[in-house]
Amino acid sequence: MTERENLLNLTPDDAEARLAAAMAELGQPSYRVGQVARRLWANPVRSFDDMTELPAALRAALAERFELPRLELTFSQQSTDGTRKFLFRLRDGEAIETVAIPDGNRVTLCISSQAGCALRCAFCATGAMGFSRNLEVHEIAGQVREMRLLDEPIAITNIVFMGMGEPLMNWKAVDPTLTLLNDPRALGIGARHITVSTVGILPGIVALGKRPEQFRLAISIHAPSDELRQQLMPINTKYPLADVIEAAKVFDRRVTFEYVMLGGVNDGVEQARALGQLARDCAAFVNLIPLHPGGSQGFVPTSGNEISRFARLLRDRGVEVAVRKSRGIDIAAACGQLRVERLGRRTPKTADQHGDVQVA
Ligand code: SAH
Repeated sequence: MTERENLLNLTPDDAEARLAAAMAELGQPSYRVGQVARRLWANPVRSFDDMTELPAALRAALAERFELPRLELTFSQQSTDGTRKFLFRLRDGEAIETVAIPDGNRVTLCISSQAGCALRCAFCATGAMGFSRNLEVHEIAGQVREMRLLDEPIAITNIVFMGMGEPLMNWKAVDPTLTLLNDPRALGIGARHITVSTVGILPGIVALGKRPEQFRLAISIHAPSDELRQQLMPINTKYPLADVIEAAKVFDRRVTFEYVMLGGVNDGVEQARALGQLARDCAAFVNLIPLHPGGSQGFVPTSGNEISRFARLLRDRGVEVAVRKSRGIDIAAACGQLRVERLGRRTPKTADQHGDVQVA
């Protein structure tokens, strides 16, 4: 038997082209193309069998040609603050995490782009587990699709690529995924509601900037000098701070700086001044993220008061700042922490301190 084609790895244009060819071969009217295409993402089905608007024989014929792979939900957990965390198993046994964060009438989904991560940022649980592989298109966009397939579906309004992995080191899959997330024929989420978060992979930033849609860019800065950034983020050797700042300056949309507050490490007055200068240089918005203590090897969170003081110093320099709220700290909701907790390696500490998974 020839391998079935995975319709969920294709952009809407490509999926429609494949479906049009199949319908023609099967002697079906062309309106069937749109009928099936709607059931891939916009109003998704669990399987071809559930496309009850199609004749049974056609459903069977499609299932012989195509596949619609699911992500297997192996665990989910809800925080007292409403944040929900999902652990999905992929077909090769890899595990990835997805977090849904409600906030007023928005629900932000924090999605993974890689199984594991190669970057080894010092405070990050995903970095500690190492890199397994890039996710495929259907595995990234599938995290949103699965929210629509829950017994009680969750209507996602915003997406952040702040789960496991570095999205701009998987641009080959992230690029078409952005199309699926945004295209009204697929998931239909506005480009301004989709944020790609990166450590500063320069070619990826350029590629994202070339997309005509207004996708948002967030850059993990975390230190205002090469010396400190190098210690926290080994990738700084390849893409030093000055180059990352330059890329942020020339990016044609407003950029967000992410800055995780590490007690006694990057939260001093001098560092606030230096960060403020960098942010002003690129008219960046700064998100101060309380450290989620779960995966973070010896780092301690900056206290709430100290974070407020740091924020004030930035504002005094005319920089727009937001201090992220602590969300999901009772369910190990920061990058990589649930997988570590469920599948071994390290148990996150209990949640008596600040933490966060979200920006934007
Ligand atoms: N690789 C990308 C996206 C994934 S991480 C990036 O680094 O931007 C998303 C954000 O969560 C990054 O800013 C990352 O530094 C931050 N993060 C990782 N571990 C954290 C922790 N324990 N507490 C708070 N933020 C954390």
